[in-house]
Amino acid sequence: MSLIGAHVSVAGGLWKAIERGESLGCEAIQIFTKNQLQWLAPPVSESVASRFMAAWGRSTIKKVVAHASYLLNLASETEKREKSIAALAEEIARCEALGIEDLVLHPGSHLGRGLEYGREQAAEGLARALERTAGMRTRVLLETMSGQGYSVGSTIEDLAWILERVGDPSRVGVCLDTCHLFGGGYELRGRSSYDRFVRAVEKHIGLGNVGCWHLNDSTAEMGSHIDRHQHLGEGFIGLELFSRIVTDPRWEETPCLLETPKGLPGDSGNLALLRKLRGR
Ligand SMILES: [Zn+2]
Ligand SMILES: [Zn+2]
Repeated sequence: MSLIGAHVSVAGGLWKAIERGESLGCEAIQIFTKNQLQWLAPPVSESVASRFMAAWGRSTIKKVVAHASYLLNLASETEKREKSIAALAEEIARCEALGIEDLVLHPGSHLGRGLEYGREQAAEGLARALERTAGMRTRVLLETMSGQGYSVGSTIEDLAWILERVGDPSRVGVCLDTCHLFGGGYELRGRSSYDRFVRAVEKHIGLGNVGCWHLNDSTAEMGSHIDRHQHLGEGFIGLELFSRIVTDPRWEETPCLLETPKGLPGDSGNLALLRKLRGR
């Protein structure tokens, strides 16, 4: 069975996210392990880590996925790139301390220097962050992008290209975001389109390397390269795709996480819908 859940806030302490997720009935959650708008944070203390893991262990939440800061950009050579590599290594270490196995990362922006250049920079930067955290288990999941602006990673082939160049395959994977894929030009509506897409993922990435899905509808049309999330069934994608994903045995134990807007019907409404689509 897929693991249904949502991105939840860590306000008031990391362990609070577990309580929030549980009260929403989540089977998996996504969190920021620190303020996502700041570069640095003090390391996770032992007391915070043990409180977090104890709350998690007592809860009905099976998996926790972290999302890296939006500030990070590995794909272009600016003074921020070195800072990004260091910050990514720190985020990996935070996850490791918290027992979190997967960290979602946006591959970055090439800032006008071209996709090929961006891919190379992203691959090299990622490899360096993984080297700095050698021996740790946390995987970095590259998220599919809508292709807005200069972003890198809007095709499965681009992500596969980056993953192939990173030394240790056990430390990397992907996060499939439905809104971003659709904006990037993937038709996901209809049984045959969905199956064609999953076959492409299987061929280029491998299904075992899909660490999670982000389930978001889209306010923009297919191929628009616009990244604007919408409540499930209220955008151009429609409910059918979400129903397919959460009932697909290929996504057994795979977190399917909402990043939908905070307004009504809210996380609880969207989660109720997903449970209904899944049939339990
Ligand atoms: Zn996402
Ligand atoms: Zn997005």
